[in-house]
Amino acid sequence: MPMLGLGVFGMEDTTAILSAFEAGYRSIDTAFGYGNENIVGRAVRESGLSREALFITTKLSNGAQREGNIEAEFEQSLKNLGMEYVDLYLMHWPVKECYLDAWLAMEKLYKSGRAKAIGVSNWQDYHIAEAKKVWSVVPAMNQIELHPYLTQKPLLKICKAEGIAPESWSPLGGGNMGDVKENLLTNEVLTAIGEKYGKSPAQVILRWNIDLGIVAIPKSVTPSRIKANIDIFDFALTADEITAIDALNKNQRTGPDPDNFNF
Ligand code: NDP
Repeated sequence: MPMLGLGVFGMEDTTAILSAFEAGYRSIDTAFGYGNENIVGRAVRESGLSREALFITTKLSNGAQREGNIEAEFEQSLKNLGMEYVDLYLMHWPVKECYLDAWLAMEKLYKSGRAKAIGVSNWQDYHIAEAKKVWSVVPAMNQIELHPYLTQKPLLKICKAEGIAPESWSPLGGGNMGDVKENLLTNEVLTAIGEKYGKSPAQVILRWNIDLGIVAIPKSVTPSRIKANIDIFDFALTADEITAIDALNKNQRTGPDPDNFNF
């Protein structure tokens, strides 16, 4: 899986995805719940890129977990995408009383070959501990909110111990709780590190993900930002710079909390 992909939450047409392909992105993160899997499929077909060159992630909705129609929703996702398989199928949220059964249903999809890998999203330590008792396939990935104000060190340690790869959502703090993104992207520590390399705070954050071995999926509809966000493979942070960014943590969420979401 590419270490950097494009998140497409909220996108309503193919423009940004095509511009990402042009900039060199090959990984796209969508979800049944975003209602735009069809746009991802259309962009892939318009791009002329081969399916094998791409890494497509989509996610199982909470509604399908509650209703127990996981396979039917998965098939609808494939139909929406116009694809025969997805590279990664994630459980979007761990719905209480449903997520263990949902994981077992996802294992069947994995074994069918139509989901090349399966993983989870928004799982905390206790979800992993419970699922461990029943899983026969270890989740390939845990996609969690993660940025310099929410560094998630304890959870990263658990994921590593279980062989679950980490992935950052809202890597630029771009969730829906006000001014976190603006504050993060003008942070003086990130700005100073960026000046040394001729990079923006956003690029420093994305490189910090890469240097920590965390996949990141920033979202942007702005062509210049789409390009800039992937222009991070010509420098690397020092151990001291990584420590300085880690120290910005204040356990600040910008999106829903997996311990008490209500959707
Ligand atoms: P991001 O942290 O990616 O931030 C996106 C915001 O940052 C947008 O407002 C964008 O503006 C702006 N931005 C992007 N690049 C730059 C830049 N270089 N400089 C300045 N501003 C920039 O937040 P998201 O919440 O969108 O998260 C990314 C992806 O993660 C989502 O699209 C989705 O795929 C996934 N996600 C998954 C969740 C889950 O539960 N599993 C939950 C939330 C997100 P503009 O577009 O105008 O350029």
